[in-house]
Amino acid sequence: QAQNLERLKGKENITQSGQKIDVCANIGTREDIENVLRCDAGGIGLFRSEFLYMESGSKPPTEEYQFQVYKLAAESMGIKKVVIRTADLGGDKMAECLDLGMDPNPAIGYRGIRVSLDKEEVFKTQLRAILRASAFGNLSIMFPMITSIEEVKLAKLMLEKAKKELKKEKTAFDSDIPVGVMIETPAAVMISGELAREVDFFSIGTNDLLQLTLGMDRQNERLERYFNPHHSALLKMIRIITNNVHLEEKHISICGDMAADLEMTEYLIQIGIDELSVAPNQVLALRKKIREIQ
Ligand code: PEP
Ligand code: MG
Repeated sequence: QAQNLERLKGKENITQSGQKIDVCANIGTREDIENVLRCDAGGIGLFRSEFLYMESGSKPPTEEYQFQVYKLAAESMGIKKVVIRTADLGGDKMAECLDLGMDPNPAIGYRGIRVSLDKEEVFKTQLRAILRASAFGNLSIMFPMITSIEEVKLAKLMLEKAKKELKKEKTAFDSDIPVGVMIETPAAVMISGELAREVDFFSIGTNDLLQLTLGMDRQNERLERYFNPHHSALLKMIRIITNNVHLEEKHISICGDMAADLEMTEYLIQIGIDELSVAPNQVLALRKKIREIQ
């Protein structure tokens, strides 16, 4: 089986009838970069940068440290894209280095972009690090847990601030770095049309989207029998997002667990998802599945 999959390296992600889809990889640490190269993914569709903060001890990771990690990802992937998601802390991902407090309902609490917009200096430091690394490859920036246009505008404003600083310092960066958002709240689904006029690309976080749509904690084992990853409400949302994003001719991917669910692959290709991003060790199995589809 493993040998069979090895043979798929260098091959296209294409169905029998000729439909292509990008397959990228999700990573969380610099050690994962090697696994991405080994599995022959089309790029890094999701770099969960919050792991840098979770492993950082009592102080947040410095701009220089982050820059080195993002630069390594950018250089390792060459012309292939690398999507850095800004820190998605809070919820189930706590970091000692930031005062995140204790929420009674962590999944719907102080987390994701809300933390970044609140801790402006920490956010700007990360954006500066990403921008500096963008001079060394094909980087994109993605914001997590978006619920409104205002959040996107504020995040983009901070990005502009960081760009202005770097320009003044005569530091190189990609001034056209693509900006995208995660669609993982029902609010983001409902305003996906407006969001599509505000940013360049989208990635659906089906893990949080399912949790928030069903109102069920994705980590509560007692709810497992109700936590249906094929729930028709979720599938309907994915169709709505895809249509809205494509109306504005923007790119739509899925980076939540559904992307690796081989029972869903045919459906997702059929509705026009542009990219699936999965753990590195799932890339070739997904490629095999895609190549078997009619
Ligand atoms: C998701 O919510 O589906 C997602 C990809 O983000 P994370 O799993 O890191 O919350
Ligand atoms: Mg999420």
